[in-house]
Amino acid sequence: AKLAGKNCYRFYSRAMDQAVERRVRMEQDLRGAWERGELSLVYQPVFRMADNRLLGAEALLRWKHPTQGMVAPSIFIEVAEQSGLIETLGPAVLRAACIDATRWHRELGHDELFVAVNVSPRQLRAGNLARQVEDVLRETGMAPRRLHLELTETAVIGDELHISSLLARLRTSGVQVWLDDFGTGFSGLSHLRRVPIDGVKIDRSFVADVLRDPDDLALTTAIIAMAHSLGMTVVAEGVEQEGQFEVLRERGCDLAQGYWLGHPMSSQELARLIG
Ligand code: C2E
Ligand code: CA
Ligand code: CA
Ligand code: CA
Repeated sequence: AKLAGKNCYRFYSRAMDQAVERRVRMEQDLRGAWERGELSLVYQPVFRMADNRLLGAEALLRWKHPTQGMVAPSIFIEVAEQSGLIETLGPAVLRAACIDATRWHRELGHDELFVAVNVSPRQLRAGNLARQVEDVLRETGMAPRRLHLELTETAVIGDELHISSLLARLRTSGVQVWLDDFGTGFSGLSHLRRVPIDGVKIDRSFVADVLRDPDDLALTTAIIAMAHSLGMTVVAEGVEQEGQFEVLRERGCDLAQGYWLGHPMSSQELARLIG
């Protein structure tokens, strides 16, 4: 048993070394990936449920590694976040998304479309987000109200004083602030009163279960009602089936996003979609 334990330890330690090594290598590969053109943005359309009208799109980052192919954002965003690379990657994404959106606005005449950009917790803490946003708005001529920043629920809890003043400044510059993955952070809806938020995105884990789990349906319905009473808009993300769409619309959900409605696509493909 002792021997097995020792082997076991050795096994885990080697596995851990390999994981660390993989991580370090990924961090090295990710450094400069934007400049080398390996990273790109795709856009997932967001629709109004009442009339199926396209209202905007969420920008999602893609990495085509030169030898390993596509790397999942859930993996490389985490590496970017932990290594600090996100502090340069984040602003690059923000600028690129605004450039694409101003094309939809100016060249295609759809100046009502919003673009939603994900902002990681580390970007929030870095302390220069408001300045970056103001700079990008000025440089690109992007209409501020058409830029949505998606912050995760958990990133917004914590240093409330800092976050509240940051959100207030962002609001002053005219951009919208949305809470992403809502419902997963157990922060409760009460603190939403204190932070200036335009809307919430119901996490897809709830949406996935609305048809078969009465608790998820009840929770989702409560989130919609509470958000509306606070003057916020509600998006359901991860809508994969017509049935989910129907039940959420019945419960008063405003907007929807998901594979049933549209997969993430290039800016050009989105442009074709809007025609
Ligand atoms: P997220 O912000 O919650 O983005 C939604 C994710 O759900 C995307 O995954 C999207 O492709 C996926 N999705 C959309 N519709 C469906 C559906 O019907 N079913 C299912 N199962 N999934 C659906 P993706 O693109 O792999 O991104 C994963 C996460 O990586 C994002 O989650 C976001 O947290 C992060 N991420 C992506 N791009 C960026 C970025 O530019 N900056 C930052 N900070 N994070 C990003
Ligand atoms: Ca998001
Ligand atoms: Ca989300
Ligand atoms: Ca469930």
